[in-house]
Amino acid sequence: MPRINTPNSKHNGPAPLAGGHQYLPYTDALFLTTLQSAIHIIDTRIYGDARCDKAFKALPAGRTFAQIWMDISIWINFDPSRQYGDYGAKRGNDITITAFSLEMGRWTVAATLIHELAHVNGAPGNTHQAEATLQNCLLPGLEDPTIIGKLLHSTNAGFA
Ligand SMILES: [Zn+2]
Repeated sequence: MPRINTPNSKHNGPAPLAGGHQYLPYTDALFLTTLQSAIHIIDTRIYGDARCDKAFKALPAGRTFAQIWMDISIWINFDPSRQYGDYGAKRGNDITITAFSLEMGRWTVAATLIHELAHVNGAPGNTHQAEATLQNCLLPGLEDPTIIGKLLHSTNAGFA
């Protein structure tokens, strides 16, 4: 699975672009626990799901969700942003999850992770492809339309 940027991991996330997202280590124990719970949801309820794999394989980079999830070159970073509607971002193989997303809890973080992993797999930031993938990767009963709705791109703010 993707690796978590913690102080011990010595991972240097990408430097922030001007006014852009930050890619920092997880130093807050509660946020780290929420992230680990979200990873557990994906491990136990989404990883191995054929519908999700198929949706990911259709993205421009063509890898299944399982292939992406097993890629240890992908890192999960922390962004202290609490700006409303800003859940996360990605640069190359680095994902970042905002404090705004983490404070909404593990289900939102699980959805944010899948959304950003769809971008790692080539889903462009200016279409709804990442969100469409998300709908294919949320198992029945796990799907929360309000979360999906909130994860729709806010194009005027440039979030991805
Ligand atoms: Zn996006």
